[in-house]
Amino acid sequence: MDKKQVRISTEERHASPVPQDRARRPEAEGGEVLSCAPFYLPVAGEIELFEAAYESRMAVLLKGPTGCGKTRFVSYMAWRLKLGLYTVACHDDLTSSDLIGRFLIKGRETVWVDGPLTKAVRNGGICYMDEVVEARKDTTVVIHPLTDDRRALPIEKTGEELHAPNEFMLVVSYNPGYQHILKDLKASTRQRFVAIEFGYPEAEIETEIVEKESGIDRDGASKLVKIGRKMRTLTDSGLESAPGTRLLIHAATLITKGLPPKKACEAAIVLALTDDAELHKGLLDIVDAIFPPKAGLAPRG
Ligand code: ADP
Repeated sequence: MDKKQVRISTEERHASPVPQDRARRPEAEGGEVLSCAPFYLPVAGEIELFEAAYESRMAVLLKGPTGCGKTRFVSYMAWRLKLGLYTVACHDDLTSSDLIGRFLIKGRETVWVDGPLTKAVRNGGICYMDEVVEARKDTTVVIHPLTDDRRALPIEKTGEELHAPNEFMLVVSYNPGYQHILKDLKASTRQRFVAIEFGYPEAEIETEIVEKESGIDRDGASKLVKIGRKMRTLTDSGLESAPGTRLLIHAATLITKGLPPKKACEAAIVLALTDDAELHKGLLDIVDAIFPPKAGLAPRG
């Protein structure tokens, strides 16, 4: 990695958090380097665990429901460890060439172009494979030699074998509840990772996250967290997925833009969770109970 690009001074390291979007600085090599601390509230010892894994050159698997902070955590850790971040959103059609690289024709020449995994191995940095089970199994095996003592990346097409520097780390995420059983991670892949489990943060912490991320007042944030917690108990009653912190932040943001809370919750939470009319009504009842129309918070007009 170009050390000059990622060097962050002590002052910057302790700079007050700034919104994630403003902290992003795209790098020529494709790795993202954060110059300011992304806002991240630790939940349960995950920072120490991640740091210990990094120092021990171990790969990490972040496990937990969608919208509960896995991606933000990786950004925060990349900043904290002063590493570039190469994110790959995994999907059905992801091939090993998408990860490793391919020959491309440029003008009259054929040139080799590194994929994000190769860039991270060559330059050092974190390669984050988001929703790794979405990738085809033949794609996931290319990471195997990187996750054991070899820490190697063979590139068949160029005949190279790269050896990962100490600053390279492989991080993958997956959402166990959401995946189809057929799409579960193979034991031979899974057992190569140290796992960090993510759940929904405690009410107090989640309220602070919603407040900080959206700018809503404490009372509003706390009410939205109550709604989220109540809805999370309904997954046994037919609700396919529960609302993560992300949805609560979306609703809070709409409220700060002047939308009535019920409308905001319906648009950002209820409709994101279900298409079923009955469940829709049930979820809106929860919203009504916490933002009662009588309190003057009902939609105007
Ligand atoms: P995931 O990757 O688990 O799907 P994200 O990391 O994208 O979820 O989290 C969704 C949003 O929730 C983030 O953009 C951030 O605003 C917020 N968030 C969740 N957990 C935290 C946390 N512990 N500290 C700060 N923000 C958080």
